[in-house]
Amino acid sequence: MRVGILGATGSVGSATLDICRRFPDRFRVTALAARSNGKALLALGRELQAEALCLTAPGEAFSPDPETRFYRGTRGLLDLVETEQVDHWVFASSGTDAIEALVQAIRLDRDVSLANKESIVVAGPWVLPELRRPDQLRPVDSEHSALWQCLHGEPTLRLRQLWLTASGGPFRDLPLDRFDAVTPQTALAHPVWRMGPKITVDSATLVNKGIECIEAMRLFAQPMEKVGALIHPRSQVHGLALFQDGSCKLLLSSADMRLPAAAALAYPDRLPLLDQGFDFPGPEVWDLRFEPVDPIRFPGFTVACRAGQEDGPYPALLVGADEVAVEAFLSERIPFFRIAAVLDQVLSSYDGPAPASLADAVDLVEQGRRKARSLCGMSEEVRP
Ligand code: NDP
Ligand code: MG
Repeated sequence: MRVGILGATGSVGSATLDICRRFPDRFRVTALAARSNGKALLALGRELQAEALCLTAPGEAFSPDPETRFYRGTRGLLDLVETEQVDHWVFASSGTDAIEALVQAIRLDRDVSLANKESIVVAGPWVLPELRRPDQLRPVDSEHSALWQCLHGEPTLRLRQLWLTASGGPFRDLPLDRFDAVTPQTALAHPVWRMGPKITVDSATLVNKGIECIEAMRLFAQPMEKVGALIHPRSQVHGLALFQDGSCKLLLSSADMRLPAAAALAYPDRLPLLDQGFDFPGPEVWDLRFEPVDPIRFPGFTVACRAGQEDGPYPALLVGADEVAVEAFLSERIPFFRIAAVLDQVLSSYDGPAPASLADAVDLVEQGRRKARSLCGMSEEVRP
């Protein structure tokens, strides 16, 4: 199978590449894209003998090998997907630039593995109706992969409740009066997952979990009331699906992004990862304790869920505002506890219409960024 990876130089991209390298007879990586890390992309391209590379923001010094097809700019992502003969595209880039390429991959009837949650949260109402067949789109976000696997063969009409789990991040037990002292370094030290900086901060505020609840609402076509989150510090269970007959299915595995990447790439097959030394937390260490999310400790979770409940313009505004608020925190312009307040203010102050098109939805992301920039006292454009 010919595989293309957008966001190949990132954390999920690396997890996906690890799986592809282990099974070269099944997965041949022929196309790779990143934003600006030309050096790493070039090295990957040479190692994997990729036929095509794309950089959306190439530096001047970047010079790809002459035998490689090279695409550049945000438009390059769309051209890459339109032109390259790839069976399975993995969307593992961050941000919203790959939405059009995602829609195009779906229209071309390619299989798609999707880690990028922003595209579904912002543009789900325009992306998902394009799907040609069941399971064409396979979630890679670990909780959604878990739920996707739990829901196989189930009548979703009989679904009572979905829960996504959250480890609670580094501040699960921090005394509330110590939140003032949180620094970027402490927020970036996630106890379980190794991820990119934006999503690591989002996991500390639990805004990530709220965004993921919206993602689940869209992916599994459920009302927001049927989607919730549970704090589960051991991160062994990633998602739970309760049905009307009182049976609950849950997925338990190591906290390792290579697993959902493998499940998505190999579907409907399973890859023999245990034979390759992958870890499985055995029954002797299973810990099935779950707690509700504390809204005082995690106000960002409540704000994000409200954006999902109200839907319309709010999920897109949330995504844009959060991008900027996290950047403002990481550059020490705002304290940690202001992140949720900034999001709340951006959502509450919006009095425009709901998006009527994909372009409107993407524009709302920018409006969310702009408003958050002014609230954080940032004038220059900030991109993650
Ligand atoms: P990283 O910051 O580690 O990597 C981001 C990747 O996307 C890099 O390869 C980057 O390239 C590339 N990229 C960024 N912008 C563009 C663009 N405009 N065009 C092309 N490529 C681009 O992020 P993560 O791997 O952590 O996350 C990626 C996505 O997956 C996000 O949407 C995140 O929410 C989601 N996700 C991540 C999880 C995780 O465990 N990390 C779990 C579940 C979902 P460059 O290196 O050149 O900047
Ligand atoms: Mg997740």
